[in-house]
Amino acid sequence: MDDSQGVTRVHEHGYVRLVEAWGSDEQIVAAARMSTDGAFRGWGTDTEPGDERLLARLWRDRHTSPFEQAGMSLEVRAPLFVVREWQRHRTQSFNEQSARYGALPYDDYLPSIERVLLGGQSKGNRQGSGTAVPHAAAEAWRTELAGLQERAEAVYRLGIESGISRELSRCALTVSRYSRMRASANLRNWLAFLALRLAPDAQEEIRDYARAVATLLAERFPRTWALAKEGMTT
Ligand SMILES: Cc1cc2nc3c(=O)[nH]c(=O)nc-3n(C[C@H](O)[C@H](O)[C@H](O)COP(=O)(O)OP(=O)(O)OC[C@H]3O[C@@H](n4cnc5c(N)ncnc54)[C@H](O)[C@@H]3O)c2cc1C
Repeated sequence: MDDSQGVTRVHEHGYVRLVEAWGSDEQIVAAARMSTDGAFRGWGTDTEPGDERLLARLWRDRHTSPFEQAGMSLEVRAPLFVVREWQRHRTQSFNEQSARYGALPYDDYLPSIERVLLGGQSKGNRQGSGTAVPHAAAEAWRTELAGLQERAEAVYRLGIESGISRELSRCALTVSRYSRMRASANLRNWLAFLALRLAPDAQEEIRDYARAVATLLAERFPRTWALAKEGMTT
């Protein structure tokens, strides 16, 4: 779901917000033309082809450095297990909310019943999910998880209210607790992130975030996205 502030909501408590984007499809072409002292010449028309041909050739031939002349900085609110997967992408730069400096708000990711019903252990991918779970088992596990999250919050608050430091009190929290971070990267590396995190073997929750990133990227770099998404399994 998108709103007018450039925020794409993800699940009940999460979002991806565009902080800023730099560069454009035109600037990628202009950067490539540095090698010949040239400039962006314009996109083609129905009858006259233009610089979309050069952009396509750069992408096809993996002439990747011009795609490093553009990028995006995003603010992300996501459960800790998603943040942990996300921060494996070392070519992004991160700043994250400190749970030592302030208490984390009481928002936990509780998977929807639909997600749990189809969240059985995958038979073909030892890391994945996707098989059916009986309704009663799904309901029972989800209720237990909600109870555990409530209990975790109670122990967290008890620690803080008892004068135990925030850095120690957080031991009570689960990886479903939400954190907030800024993630910044050039366009080449955002596209590499999307190729990995939109793919069906990535966990569904980070795929939902990757879809939000793709939406923002497509708005700002529509021609590059049209080329890049061709090679991605989403
Ligand atoms: C479906 C899936 C399952 C995964 N499962 C696991 C898992 O079980 N355990 C686990 O630990 N991780 C796992 N990962 C994380 C994965 O191993 C990568 O760390 C993560 O996807 C980031 O990819 P990357 O290294 O290409 O990205 P980046 O870190 O952004 O790097 C981009 C590119 O830069 C280059 N690069 C960056 N750093 C180095 C370096 N130090 N040396 C050489 N080249 C470098 C590489 O070419 C790399 O592809 C999983 C990822 C996915 C998508």
